[in-house]
Formats: sequence, structure tokens, C-alpha cells
Amino acid sequence: MSLKSISDQKKVRDVFFRLFKEKKMTFCKQINKFLTLHAMIKTKLMQSQQNKSSILLIYTGGTIGMIENAETGTLEAFNFQHLRENMPELKKLGYDVQTLQFDPPLDSSEMGPDSWMKIVKIITDNYQKYDGFVVLHGTDTMAYTASALSFMLENLGKPVILTGSQLPIGVLRTDGKENLITAIEIAAAKENGYPVVPEVCIFFENDLLRGNRTTKINADNFNAFRSYNYPPLAHAGIYIKYDEPQIYHPVLRKPLKPHYLLDRNIAILKLFPGISPQVTESILNIPGLKGVVMETFGSGNAPCDEWFLKKLHDAVERGIVIVNVTQCLGGSVEMHRYETGRKLLEAGVISGFDSTTESAVTKLMFLFGHGLNNSEVVEHMNCSLIGEVTIPDTFRP
Ligand code: ASP
Repeated sequence: MSLKSISDQKKVRDVFFRLFKEKKMTFCKQINKFLTLHAMIKTKLMQSQQNKSSILLIYTGGTIGMIENAETGTLEAFNFQHLRENMPELKKLGYDVQTLQFDPPLDSSEMGPDSWMKIVKIITDNYQKYDGFVVLHGTDTMAYTASALSFMLENLGKPVILTGSQLPIGVLRTDGKENLITAIEIAAAKENGYPVVPEVCIFFENDLLRGNRTTKINADNFNAFRSYNYPPLAHAGIYIKYDEPQIYHPVLRKPLKPHYLLDRNIAILKLFPGISPQVTESILNIPGLKGVVMETFGSGNAPCDEWFLKKLHDAVERGIVIVNVTQCLGGSVEMHRYETGRKLLEAGVISGFDSTTESAVTKLMFLFGHGLNNSEVVEHMNCSLIGEVTIPDTFRP
């Protein structure tokens, strides 16, 4: 275009301003769009930060915490403070995982009431800060710890998932990484802002089991735990499938009430054919003894020898609570079923129904620890405190 006249120049100027205005508008629109997008991303990020579950990982000890020293080939304690460096997989989960470890880490054979109290204290002190807890623990006594924690953490409303492994985390074929990662996922799982599994559980090799229903059944298989009398709460395959109706959800959300009182004056009396009066007596006459978990045959049967029944009867008369649990892995005690069981009932032995030994032992420790007298203990043994036992509808104390 050639600028021949003033009017032409004016026209150009007008066009220029129009174009400038349009461009300016487009530019403004783009800026606006960009700012809106930026705000949206920022909000989403903030939301995801808020929704990002925070997990406290408590390493107590056990095989899982071992790592192979690349230079020497020896197994050394894994430093969980450097968990993220050692396990880059964790970053992908996107949770905020903090760690705490026992010093020194303990083989689970060395764990007992003091260590259970320590775990309860850690969970209580950090209860508000975290959405869930993962307890790394040796497998040998994990079922005892899980049972004890289920009683000691009254009104628990957040997941406490125990796991460990059969092979150290630093060994190529380890089952530890998968167990740990899935346990963290379960501890972090929420639905409508609420935890999916607000229970003390054991996660091991694909199955999430109620802690106080679980028993270690294999010393070297990856599939080391079972809950014979209660279904798994979840199964981890490609997806983690929760069996919602089996999961315990507190009706009322009450504040966590930690308990630190446990009484160790408990014994296990495992029957075997040919058990002698001396063995039976030496257990039932332990000074200070308050409770006995008696492992019987089948549906709760025992020898009918006079001397045996008398020793049980005398012990009950002295105030000892004797709880009958079966040596079988699955099924329940029914003392009415056979003469050999009925005699135990007459001697004053109470039923442990389908409790595991681990659960019955720790429940007695817990009840006597709180100073309950023996009829109160019996009363509480005859009901389920936290899903540890199935009381038949037909049961009349
Ligand atoms: N002895 C070890 C423990 O229970 C075994 C394991 O961690 O699996 O601590």
C-alpha cells in the first residue's frame, strides 16, 4: 500500500490501531488464559499436596532391614533414614513417608511387652501427624505384636500395617520391597477422606490379614502367614481389592486411647498325649500365675484322667483363668461336643472359641494388666473386644 494522501495515512493509522487493539486483546486474552490455567494447576497441586497421605514407617528390626554390602557381600542393617535413596520405587508412590527406627533394631524373638509399649508410644505421639503407620517387624513374633497392638490401641481410627520379609530387602530375590510398598499403599489408602483400613493388620505376600487373627505358618515360604478363622481384609494382585464388609470401622470416632499396662503372669500349656502330672503341675503352680492358654486337641478336647482334671480344677479354684484354644490351625473350640471337652468345662476351663494362641495370650496380658479380677477377665474373654474372636450366637456364659 502506498501512502498517497492524508486520508490514506489516516486510514492506515486506523487500521493499525484496530489491529493493535485486536492483537492487544488477543494478547490479553492469552495472558488471562495463562493466568487461569496457572491458578488451576496451582489449586490442583495444593489439593494433591493436601490429599498426599503421610505415612510413618517404624522399623523395629527383623530380616527385612538387611542390605547386602556391595563390596563385602555381608548383610548389614539397612539405614531406613536413607530409605528414599535406597528404594527409588518409593518416590513413585508420591506419599510423604517419614521413618523412625529402633536403636538397636531387634530380632522379633527379642520383642515383647516393652517393645509393644514403645510402638504404641510412637504411634500415639505421632497420631495426629500421619494418616497411617507401617511397622516393619521380624516375622517370627509378628502375630503376637499385631495382636497386642490391637488391644493396646483402643479407638484406633487409622491403619497400622505390620510387615516384614523372609529375605532381606537388599537381596535380589527379596519379598521385602513388594511387602513394604504394598503395606505403604494400604496404610495410605483413603476413601472420601477416611482411611480404608483403620485396623492393626499384617500384610504379607499379597494378603492383608487382621492382626489378631493371624499366625505365622511357614519358616521359609514367602507366603508365611495365615488367618484361618477370619477372611483376608484385602488381596493385592494387579489392584488391591479390599473386602469392605470384613473391615472393622468404628461406629463412633473417638480419640485414640493408648494402653500401656500388660501383665506377664501368663503361661501356655500345650497338651500332648502322655503329658505327665509333673509337667502339668509345674506350669499350673507357677508363683503369681494369673492366666493359662491351654492348647488342646481338635474341638477343645483333653485327657479325662482324674489327676489332670483335678489339677485344672484346683488351679481355677485358686483364681487362675484357664482358656481353652485348639491346637488345630482352623476351627473353634466346642467343649460341649465330646465328653473329653465337657469335663474341662466342668473343671472351670473357659472357651477361647476360635482365638489364635497369640491373641489369647496377649488378651490375657492386657486384661490382667488393667487390674481386672478373674470374673471380669472371664467376662471379657467371652466377648470380642476388637474382632479377635467369633462368639457363637448360641453361647451362654
Ligand atoms: N528372626 C527374624 C525375626 O523374626 C526373622 C524375620 O525377620 O523374618 O526377627
